[in-house]
Amino acid sequence: MPVYNHQNIEKKWQKYWQKKNIFKAEDESSKPKFYCLDMFPYPSSYGLHVGHLRGYTISDIIAKKRLMEGYNVLHPMGWDAFGLPAENFALKTGVHPAITTQKAIKNIKKQLISSGLGYDWSREICSCSKDYYQWTQWMFLELYKAGLAYRKKAEVNFCPSCKTVLANEQVIDGKCERCQNIVSKKQLEQWFFKITDYAERLIDDLDKIDWPDKIKIMQRNWIGKSEGTEIIFQIPNSEFQIPVFTTRVDTLFGCTYIVIAPESSIIKQLKPKISNYKEVLDYTEKAKTKSETERLAEDKEKTGVEIKGIKAINPINNEEVPIFVADYVLTEYGTGAIMAVPAHDERDFLFAKKYNLSVKEVIQPVNSQTKFPEKAFEDDGVLINSGVFTGLSSLEAREKITQYLSEKKLGKKAVYYKLRDWLISRQRYWGAPIPMIFCPKCGWQAVAENDLPVLLPKIKDFKPGGEGESPLIKSKKFLQTKCPKCGGLAKRETDTMDTFVCSSWYYLAYAFWHKQKNQKGSILKEHKNLIKFWLPVDLYVGGAEHACLHLLYARFFVKALKDLGYIDFDEAFSKLFNQGTIYHEGAKMSKSRGNVVSPDEIFKKYGADTLRVYELFIGPADQACQWQDKGIIGSYRFLQKVWQLLDRFETQSKKMKTIETSLPIKKLLHKTIKQVTEDIESFKFNTAISSLMVLTNEMEKAEQLAVSDYELLIKLVAPFAPHLSEEIWQRLGHKASIFFENWPKYDKELVKEEKFIFIIQINGKIRDKVEIEKGISREKVEEIVFSREKTQKWIKDKEIKKIIFVPDKLINLVI
Ligand SMILES: [Zn+2]
Ligand SMILES: [Zn+2]
Repeated sequence: MPVYNHQNIEKKWQKYWQKKNIFKAEDESSKPKFYCLDMFPYPSSYGLHVGHLRGYTISDIIAKKRLMEGYNVLHPMGWDAFGLPAENFALKTGVHPAITTQKAIKNIKKQLISSGLGYDWSREICSCSKDYYQWTQWMFLELYKAGLAYRKKAEVNFCPSCKTVLANEQVIDGKCERCQNIVSKKQLEQWFFKITDYAERLIDDLDKIDWPDKIKIMQRNWIGKSEGTEIIFQIPNSEFQIPVFTTRVDTLFGCTYIVIAPESSIIKQLKPKISNYKEVLDYTEKAKTKSETERLAEDKEKTGVEIKGIKAINPINNEEVPIFVADYVLTEYGTGAIMAVPAHDERDFLFAKKYNLSVKEVIQPVNSQTKFPEKAFEDDGVLINSGVFTGLSSLEAREKITQYLSEKKLGKKAVYYKLRDWLISRQRYWGAPIPMIFCPKCGWQAVAENDLPVLLPKIKDFKPGGEGESPLIKSKKFLQTKCPKCGGLAKRETDTMDTFVCSSWYYLAYAFWHKQKNQKGSILKEHKNLIKFWLPVDLYVGGAEHACLHLLYARFFVKALKDLGYIDFDEAFSKLFNQGTIYHEGAKMSKSRGNVVSPDEIFKKYGADTLRVYELFIGPADQACQWQDKGIIGSYRFLQKVWQLLDRFETQSKKMKTIETSLPIKKLLHKTIKQVTEDIESFKFNTAISSLMVLTNEMEKAEQLAVSDYELLIKLVAPFAPHLSEEIWQRLGHKASIFFENWPKYDKELVKEEKFIFIIQINGKIRDKVEIEKGISREKVEEIVFSREKTQKWIKDKEIKKIIFVPDKLINLVI
């Protein structure tokens, strides 16, 4: 018996698959298509660790199973190669990012191939190659022409460490998503994509896709739709008015002051009327230094300053109320001003208590108890102290008061979203240049389509500038150009695009990239049929950390491209699966923590097949798991056992091959086929593997085993351990790849559960009987027994002293 030498086997089959194009997708086929996609990795110079490989193994197992089920499978791979990590690494080492990126790609590609992942490499894309970013720039121009890309001066997030602006989505709890430094605010003129135009559709279409609930909830919250009323508060003896937005117009009679956000332009407009302008200004300046999280923290004491010299009129009762500026109100949300109802909003309540403002109760609970006046009552209820609206329910009152206000032209129904437009300008070198030109005479002009790509110049000094200036400004050759309109001297935009723009359309590129030759025109038009053939993606696998970044941006792109007539679907990713993170030594694997496990060592010692099995045997695929160096041995032994079974058919007489498998093993085999088939579909790879382990152990013990049944085991193992399976398959005398074989089907008769009469005794006397399946566990039996009314009648409220359980026979309850 030859030993299981994974090193020889694995390299051999990796070459074979590539040479024979086993995993190449067919553009014309009568088979049903299956597009299986991984989020393309950024080529880190540190290579992949075993945590990265988990997601790729998941999609690969599904893709291989689909192939065996007779699908035409597209499973591509590429590189999200622009961006800060590559650039920061280059800055650290002094080597140009173009060089470090290519080196990193070579290394990671080797790691992926060594893992036995079956990609169609003929469609490989790389977002930093000019062939690719030409089309990223083209997409920008398409959005620009459609009015979905625009430039404006705005207060933006700026990371002082990365020296670039960031989108709202890239600021997590006030910190830079990349480097974890505190983000500051800056007034800058930048390019934006109008994602807010799609807010409603981005919410509604979530119902059309099979995504984890948690991601849908995160997107819904991020987009943050609120329906309510916009109310006009007038400033007496002036033409000024302050609009506020509220979802609780039913509490309007309880409004005792209003609050303006420190950034609000209203303050400057009202300057001549404000008697304590300096005090107000000091406060607003101070607020600017605080992060949003700091300002909104619930446990933080609320601060503010009354704006003296002016009042506002509550339009429902014409009462004059004071106006405050306070940093717990953000200009980003709603109108940048709120009506404060201390009796029915806890934040307002705390603020009113601190500044001795009046608290007026206008809602009473219907059934529940209120803690008012110790605490605000925030729920819906019945209106009191509310003029003609007294006695209405909150729900009715919202409708009626809004109607009343709109008749008086002092209010209207309104919908607000938290979502802001996507800021895509980056003051960094390693990205796709924004294809725009500024002419002193004609203003901003788009680069002509035929002049794309705007090449990223090779410059030596690519360090970021610092004050919102891109390093590209240092390249005169790049900067100076001609105006596409008047031909006069003009300057190029020097900012590059957020890399999330590159990844917003890459899933379309895989459909046609191997056919892409034309450098002009529209690739989306040219390859319309291939896009239609392959898209949408049937299964998308990647990390949940992209919930409100890539996964939101890509959805916006698809909708915009659909509106432009290029594609005919609303959503690109029909099903999404987020793999669980692998932890090691109690923490997420990362280079900086020094707890990274490299796959390269494991390839050598145990082989890629063992690693693949262990990546998923470690725990449920969607949950975080702890990496155990010792744990991998169990997976290795399992594969050795599968291998050793081959001995029976290689070394013994031909007679052995015709031997029938005994019935119990045959039954177990077919149950395992059923379970593995179903478990893979529901991403329960760990239970699929453990059922394969049980079957292998039983086959090892069995005296009789037909080769055809052993072959069924090998087919089930194939998606998990492709090299080993391919080797065994060939040794059993087959010529073609195992992945061209059919996925096993189970025999319905053989998986039928056998039932029998199970006896329930109480104190040794037969009191009840129940028909159950053979072989079920004690836990299951107890569950059934205790749920039976008849048994319960015998037990009543007596304590059970002892339970005697005889498997497949009886249970005796001693009471
Ligand atoms: Zn940063
Ligand atoms: Zn011009």
